[in-house]
Amino acid sequence: MGLFGKKKPVEAPPEPQPEVVDAQDYLVRIAYGAKSSEGLHMPPGPAVLGSLPAILAGISLTPVEVVPPRTVDFAQASPDLERPSEAFQWVSANSELGPIARHAVMVLETVEALDPAFDTLACGMLAGELDTAGYPRFDAIVGGIAAHWDEATGDLVARGVVGWGGRGIRGDTDRVASRVLAAIVTSLKSAAVAGPAVAEDVTVPARGGGGLVCPSCGFAAGRERAFYCPKCGMRLLRA
Ligand SMILES: [Zn+2]
Repeated sequence: MGLFGKKKPVEAPPEPQPEVVDAQDYLVRIAYGAKSSEGLHMPPGPAVLGSLPAILAGISLTPVEVVPPRTVDFAQASPDLERPSEAFQWVSANSELGPIARHAVMVLETVEALDPAFDTLACGMLAGELDTAGYPRFDAIVGGIAAHWDEATGDLVARGVVGWGGRGIRGDTDRVASRVLAAIVTSLKSAAVAGPAVAEDVTVPARGGGGLVCPSCGFAAGRERAFYCPKCGMRLLRA
């Protein structure tokens, strides 16, 4: 038999006991929050989208950035680092934005308070602080107005939307966010009753496979259901 010969065990071996080891624990709580108001129908007219930043005057602490809807090229974009293809698309789609607008899109999109394919976001810093590199801290409240062209009426429907969050949380953020949102809605309401700009009802044929391409501004809508160009509001006719 030699060296490797089998010995019959006298009794069953004892159950292996889990070893107690000293472990260092790691944990991060990342929390995002957002609030959105009801949508308000804005007065018709070609200038209505461009009027959104003015509505945030006196509310936004920084110059207002306008983020247009995402084109079909970025249909799979998602702020998810573990999915590189989606993450690359997301970074590409938002690389031209400033740090505040990019943070706002990331937070609002993550909690699904924003539909990037249809919403135009006019946003800025609404409360809180930036870090030394100019990025919003977790206690910053960002956002402003999200607007989309209503599929039934062709009106621009605008709502107040604010978001916050990251690695940390503050007890008073929710209350501050409610206050800022109320200020946005008040300003939106006065803009909504200010009376229509010059109305324009133009219908033009759209082209494009899969989605629709706006002949006015060239925007390639990512979904078939777009009846009004998500970017400029031009009415699109399906071929
Ligand atoms: Zn367009």
